[in-house]
Amino acid sequence: NLSDKLDSLFKKLRGQGVMTEENIKEALREVRLVLLEADVNFKVVKDFVEKVRERAVGTQVLQSLSPGQQVIKVVQEELVALMGGSEDNSLDLAAKPPVAIMMVGLQGSGKTTTCGKLARLLKGQRRRPLLVPADVYRPAAIEQLKTLGRQLSVETFDSRADQDPVDICREALRYATLNGFDTVILDTAGRLQIDEYLMNELVRIKEAADPREILFVADAMTGQEAVNVATGFNERLDITGVVLTKLDGDAKGGAALSIRAVTGKPVKLVGLGEKLDALEVFYPDRLVSRILGMGDILTLVEKAQATFDVTETERLQQKLKKSQFDLEDFKSQLQQIKKMGSLDSILGMIPGVGKAMKQMQGAQPSEKELKRIEAIIDSMTPGERANHQIINGSRRLRIAKGSGTTVQEVNQLLKRFTEAQKVMKQLQKMGPKGLMRGMKG
Ligand code: GDP
Ligand code: MG
Repeated sequence: NLSDKLDSLFKKLRGQGVMTEENIKEALREVRLVLLEADVNFKVVKDFVEKVRERAVGTQVLQSLSPGQQVIKVVQEELVALMGGSEDNSLDLAAKPPVAIMMVGLQGSGKTTTCGKLARLLKGQRRRPLLVPADVYRPAAIEQLKTLGRQLSVETFDSRADQDPVDICREALRYATLNGFDTVILDTAGRLQIDEYLMNELVRIKEAADPREILFVADAMTGQEAVNVATGFNERLDITGVVLTKLDGDAKGGAALSIRAVTGKPVKLVGLGEKLDALEVFYPDRLVSRILGMGDILTLVEKAQATFDVTETERLQQKLKKSQFDLEDFKSQLQQIKKMGSLDSILGMIPGVGKAMKQMQGAQPSEKELKRIEAIIDSMTPGERANHQIINGSRRLRIAKGSGTTVQEVNQLLKRFTEAQKVMKQLQKMGPKGLMRGMKG
């Protein structure tokens, strides 16, 4: 995990003043490797690392942030910016119907499947799509699209393999106009490599159909050649966006970075499986997390938001800021954690929390333990709850008796509490996008 690696790398740096060429060299080498491993094009990586270097050098090493996180933050922000930041990546269908969407890409990249997925998506948005098979070279291609159409109850234009693909598209648009279809999805042929014949055909289809969107479909597994292929399609067709397929596999999705960097065209959708519902809107920050191996912070936040009591969390956060996290808060926190499910799986999603997690090991209480912990804390006086340090031997004995537990159990709880306090401090240090703030957002 990159974040962990940088963390230890930068341990030495803490409090050393500013980042210099020299002291961030190693970290940048790690960043470079991670990106190359994710199949980002080497030229793109080179430019990118240079940018991060420029931004990082001379920056103060903050006491409050772990330095590894500080570099990660720069890397992450720059990558998200490279992927288009928070710009609007939705499909542009605002034109007089029927609007044409043209799917292009190499053979096997997932064009036909994506046509089906898109038809389903549009149908869900109350549009009336027409699927158009314009790949007349592969014998089974027309049938493949028809099958998808049947599954979706979406009409597939009745094209024949002996027709010219350009004529098919022209006729399909006329048919759509006459029959009230508002969106026409053109499934075109692919090749194993870019060739002139195919490109000419696609250019002619573009001229005939005047598509509002030309989506370049790219397999996320595509390695270094993604750049050349994307450039080839973009130069001839001036694509409007990218669909990154097969992101459900092992691919880290570095191809998306390369494509975006060289074409400047946004990734609009991602394919996450063979099924027709496996198409999603693209979120740059998620892809970046995936590439950096940082865990999916957003998933964490969503999960946390679903179960966490927001006002309670805000209250805790305020107390954390003032370092007033006390036993009462500890109790409330344990109850919340319980609601959130496995602590390991939650913390595992946060970058750089590996160490904190180990400290917390065993902190996730069972139902029975939680009851006992509650009983013990309830047996304390308000003063003791607010300041555990006053809980001496005789107080411990009294609390044990009051809660029907033993002094060892009271000791154990106090130990856990101080560990949790430490962890909470660490989480608090996670920077502006720290855990608590994320949950609030
Ligand atoms: P085309 O030649 O570009 O039309 O590609 P197809 O749509 O025929 O897809 C090629 C193969 O990739 C098929 O086996 C699809 O099921 C599979 N495929 C397409 N998209 C995805 C995806 O997002 N995830 C996975 N796992 N498989 C996909
Ligand atoms: Mg196909």
